[in-house]
Amino acid sequence: MHYDAPSAGWQDEGQSGIWKYQELLPPVPLNRRVYLGEGATPLIRSVSLEKRLGLGELYFKYEGSNPTGSYKDRIAAMGISWALAHGRKACIGTTSGNAGAAVAAYAARAGLPYHLFVLEHMAQTKLAQVLVHNAQVRRVAGFGTSPEVGDTVFSRIFEAAGLKDWEVMITAFRYNPYAMEGVKTISFELAEQLQNVPTQVYTAAGGAGLFVGVWKGFEELFRHGLLSAKPHMVAVQSAGCSNLVRAYEAGAEQPAPGASTSQISGLQVPNPPDGKVALSLMKKGDGSSLAVEDEAIWEVQRQLAEEEGIFCEPAGAVSVAGMMKALQGKEGNRSQRVVCVISGAGFKDSARLSAMTADKPVPLLPADGLDI
Ligand SMILES: *Cc1c(COP(=O)(O)O)cnc(C)c1O
Repeated sequence: MHYDAPSAGWQDEGQSGIWKYQELLPPVPLNRRVYLGEGATPLIRSVSLEKRLGLGELYFKYEGSNPTGSYKDRIAAMGISWALAHGRKACIGTTSGNAGAAVAAYAARAGLPYHLFVLEHMAQTKLAQVLVHNAQVRRVAGFGTSPEVGDTVFSRIFEAAGLKDWEVMITAFRYNPYAMEGVKTISFELAEQLQNVPTQVYTAAGGAGLFVGVWKGFEELFRHGLLSAKPHMVAVQSAGCSNLVRAYEAGAEQPAPGASTSQISGLQVPNPPDGKVALSLMKKGDGSSLAVEDEAIWEVQRQLAEEEGIFCEPAGAVSVAGMMKALQGKEGNRSQRVVCVISGAGFKDSARLSAMTADKPVPLLPADGLDI
């Protein structure tokens, strides 16, 4: 895919959300754009971890502030607008949760029916978020644990979409390259917010579209001469679903096969559709990959809430857990300007929220016995 190089002003201050960067996005007429307040998310400097780890600068790009609570809103805004611009009458896709929540909201706003196939075990809050927008949802046995089931579901969806001329909304470059262009806006915002190039950017990797999209955003700015350098990109996976990490370590070109045992919602992708692209950019020297245990992810989720005031879902804490693991045993470097993309908000995973607070009883006091 190719777009013309942006002219001097690559930001359009008159446009909202991702459309501020319309020069670097696939073209959609103004009256087809679906906007719900996505993008323009805060870049929050660390008050605790940065000092503890001895880093020069540590920032969190907080994607939980998007309208449905994850960075998937950037993809949904781009994809549903694109679908409208191309006269589609419905959309169809899969989700581990957040993509469904995002697409359901934007499809509702656009007046498009949304047919959705979800994992056998999907986080309750995420399923509810899809249902409130009236998407037509079906669960699929074995989806999310077995790579074969994943492949079957994807091919059936493409078959149906081809026959009916529906838009496929699967959040991976391999299946929906136009919608995924929305992810680049994370990097465009980072370049503006920092007025500088980060030395490292950490993202979670499930299907690897987030990782590839953030890389692509920096790559384009660099290629157009708008940035003087590119950051080193790190894709962080759960050890229970580490197909990319194992392939990266073995120098392989394709994600390593293997079922998922991870409990982290959003990262249970045993057949990462953008894995091959991710591995190729790592091979070029633009990135690397590492895995962290689910327990370590939960622990970092707790630390972010208690020490930084940031409450994210477990998948959102993965980038930070990976950054901490990369630094383990080493002194942080003052010249490092590190960004961790926190991909989703804490309220997304109500089961985890209950588990985190179960050992914090709230006593009931009589009004005349307030012992403060
Ligand atoms: C979808 C999602 C991810 C994983 O993104 P991929 O593109 O599948 O790698 C990570 N975190 C959150 C919160 C997500 O919704």
